[in-house]
Amino acid sequence: MATIGVLALQGDFREHREVIERLGGTAPEVRHLQDLAGLDGLIIPGGESTAIVRLMASSHLLEPLRELAGGGFPVWGTCAGMILLAKRLDATGIPALEAMDIGVRRNAFGRQVDSFEVDLRVPVLGDPPFHAVFIRAPVIEAVGPEVEVLARLADGTPVAARQGRLLATAFHPELTPDSRFHRFFLDHVVRRA
Ligand code: GLN
Repeated sequence: MATIGVLALQGDFREHREVIERLGGTAPEVRHLQDLAGLDGLIIPGGESTAIVRLMASSHLLEPLRELAGGGFPVWGTCAGMILLAKRLDATGIPALEAMDIGVRRNAFGRQVDSFEVDLRVPVLGDPPFHAVFIRAPVIEAVGPEVEVLARLADGTPVAARQGRLLATAFHPELTPDSRFHRFFLDHVVRRA
């Protein structure tokens, strides 16, 4: 079974670990360079992207993670993690891994709808809609030619995407009991030999 590291510098890494373990995987916390050894994939959780990128730099993880994400290693970023994967950010963002050919706008929903939940159609997960929790969420504003959009809001805004072995979701699949996104990452992104 797969070993999926969960970046544990800040944010809701514990919830991701629980889902991976529930699915039979191992989910070590990643805080230092040596924690990257032996992983089959990596999850970058939600949290505060500007804090996470600073901590990545001070823990000497920024360059190694840029190399992994840019070099075909499976990485899934949720919410802040999606911001960290993006090649292009709005002016408030700090460039981090710059691996995925998407343009992302942070805190894209005004204060009124700061956080919300919505049922999304996600064809790669099958028919039943996926209940998505958005918390001060970013959106995808632009996608490059290699990027496959996996889910959109009703107005067409992309909120989940994949580019080869990189997966990005603007919302938090680790906060609901539905583990289909984690399963998708394990079965179709990590194990896609
Ligand atoms: N608003 C946060 C940021 O810009 C992301 C929020 C989240 O991860 N839930 O970093």
